[in-house]
Amino acid sequence: MKILVTGGAGYIGSIVTERLIEGGDSVVVFDNLYYGHRSAVHPDAVFVKGDLADRAAVKALFDAHPIEAVMHFASYTLVGESMQKPFMYLGGNVTNGTNLLQEAVEHGVRRFILSSTANLFDDPQQMPIDEEERIVPGSPYGESKNILERFLHWLDRIYGFRYAALRYFNAAGASPTGARGEDHDPETHLIPLTLQVALGQRERITIYGDDYPTRDGTCVRDYIHVVDLAQAHILALRALGEGSRTYNLGNGQGFTVKEVVETCRAVTGHPIPAEFGARRPGDPATLIASSEKIRRELGWEPQYPDLRTIVEHAWAWHRTHPNGYGD
Ligand code: UDP
Repeated sequence: MKILVTGGAGYIGSIVTERLIEGGDSVVVFDNLYYGHRSAVHPDAVFVKGDLADRAAVKALFDAHPIEAVMHFASYTLVGESMQKPFMYLGGNVTNGTNLLQEAVEHGVRRFILSSTANLFDDPQQMPIDEEERIVPGSPYGESKNILERFLHWLDRIYGFRYAALRYFNAAGASPTGARGEDHDPETHLIPLTLQVALGQRERITIYGDDYPTRDGTCVRDYIHVVDLAQAHILALRALGEGSRTYNLGNGQGFTVKEVVETCRAVTGHPIPAEFGARRPGDPATLIASSEKIRRELGWEPQYPDLRTIVEHAWAWHRTHPNGYGD
């Protein structure tokens, strides 16, 4: 299948591209390289530099390539930033997504996978969180994904546009090939920041808040290996012929920030000094996914559910790429 991957030079998009190509699909990557890295793109993918805000460029992309399915990763993704810059998220993410959807529909594409988020669940009634949980976006970022999910619902009704919305919990780890991993600038995520301390690039890790109602007072998150996320995309794409679907994607197991830092110490053998700081605005105490639905319906089974393995793969990447992709 010929698959368009927007944001295919980014962390998750580049690793999904790698898996698609290894599985025999052909991939066109579309990325503006603001956050992505040219060298993260698999050499067998066709790379097109461009911006989803540029509708004419998006049209030209579909005109030039016989795209059969789209995986949409290109997005602004930071909860905290979205609270500072709501227009960038509610404007940019939604407009860019709309440009993509409109050109896809007009070019006869009927298969689409959306990167969605656990930030739809700011006030969960049940833990772990399943797909029946009520939607309460936690930020303009979460709201932008909610709007795109609703868009997809209507496009299915009107055009028979088949989609999967995949709500990621905490993506982590790196490609076991060692070729691709996390390289954000600025970095804000817990595991890469903690590993940067082990690399000597930071003095210490600041733990945001120690008075949450959790087992040790620090936030609980569900960390999922990026390759297991990638596999979920591939299974969801194959299943679209049987209808649209929405899945929450995590391991179903939560770890506190302290436990993550402790695992990083064990994997790296570095003492990794830590200090407690203020809570980060917008962080809920606990987010754990129920992924029973995708297991049941698609037979998805995480290959790397163990936090230690996830951190080991991340560490292998950071150790061999201390400056990321170096661009
Ligand atoms: N976190 C932290 N210190 C940091 C970065 C993150 O204590 O320097 C915490 C954060 O408050 C959250 C968890 O680690 O509870 C995971 O944060 P991350 O930014 O990695 O992912 P998010 O949960 O925001 O998607």
